[in-house]
Amino acid sequence: MRLVDLWKTKRPTLSFELFPARSDKAAVSLEQAIDALAALDPDFVSVTFGAGGSTREGSHQLLKKLKHEKGLEVLAYFAGYGLGPDDIVAVLDSYQALGVESVLAVRGDPPREEFKPHPDSLPYAADLVAFIRERYSFCVGVAGYPEGHIDAPSPAQDLDYLKHKLDRGAEYVITNYCYDNRFFFDFRERCRRAGIDVPILPGVMPIYSVKMMETLAKLCGATITDEIRQGIAALDADDKPGLVAFGIDQAVRQCTELLQADVPGIHIYTMDRSTSAVEIVNRLHTAGLM
Ligand SMILES: Cc1cc2nc3c(=O)[nH]c(=O)nc-3n(C[C@H](O)[C@H](O)[C@H](O)COP(=O)(O)OP(=O)(O)OC[C@H]3O[C@@H](n4cnc5c(N)ncnc54)[C@H](O)[C@@H]3O)c2cc1C
Repeated sequence: MRLVDLWKTKRPTLSFELFPARSDKAAVSLEQAIDALAALDPDFVSVTFGAGGSTREGSHQLLKKLKHEKGLEVLAYFAGYGLGPDDIVAVLDSYQALGVESVLAVRGDPPREEFKPHPDSLPYAADLVAFIRERYSFCVGVAGYPEGHIDAPSPAQDLDYLKHKLDRGAEYVITNYCYDNRFFFDFRERCRRAGIDVPILPGVMPIYSVKMMETLAKLCGATITDEIRQGIAALDADDKPGLVAFGIDQAVRQCTELLQADVPGIHIYTMDRSTSAVEIVNRLHTAGLM
């Protein structure tokens, strides 16, 4: 399925992000999560790709399982960081052979462990987009950052780089999450003013734990709002169910506002869990928003 064709016939779409399991135990809970998420009849499910090829086999196997065992539409993320042209072609050929039609081309970040990038690796996602478009018929999307990418000199400069990715052939944008929709709306407005008129799909990250929220926000530069900090402060520190429920409420509020503002769909970062996503989607269904 080519995502841009999907959005021509269906809006809003529902989709989930998954990543390959890192252990046998994680594989068991991933399997349960997949079944619970599949029951919500998502329009597609995306699979991450570890920079430097660290999850190459795992990403392939997960895409295969989702598409061919579970009958789900898939979106393959592809991080080009450090890979040479032959590796890029090998991965993309294998995705093509699986019947994948849409990919999201990202640069990726240097892996924490010792890793020597290939001398001919591509420096930016824009280069990867052009590489893919020259050789394949995939529907190619790119990442966007409502608050600006963490390494970008400014949000305005980052927007110029995003425009460059679209000029090189990207057809849609999936955004990093933010906890305050004003960042997303402002970003979408700035995109439109810059002539970026492709579908911009917002990513939504429910709060699963305080530690995870803090770690990820630090990594990607997402602002944790005062409202969230105050809501969490009002909970007992060991009230895990209370925190998850708070995260669900926050995500439902965010998705409601986004869906009322004509987004092409909602893309939920599941962290390979299903409880929060299922509750969020059920509540959006009940409200008649999806
Ligand atoms: C929806 C989504 C999915 C993701 N999936 C994955 C995944 O599967 N695997 C993974 O490893 N990571 C993934 N990431 C994370 C992503 O790889 C990192 O955020 C990475 O740091 C940037 O990737 P990019 O594609 O946005 O890079 P780019 O668009 O190349 O930008 C990277 C940085 O360089 C700057 N820049 C861009 N072009 C230029 C230029 N010509 N000159 C100077 N500076 C420039 C940008 O402003 C930015 O600061 C994902 C992110 C999102 C939002």
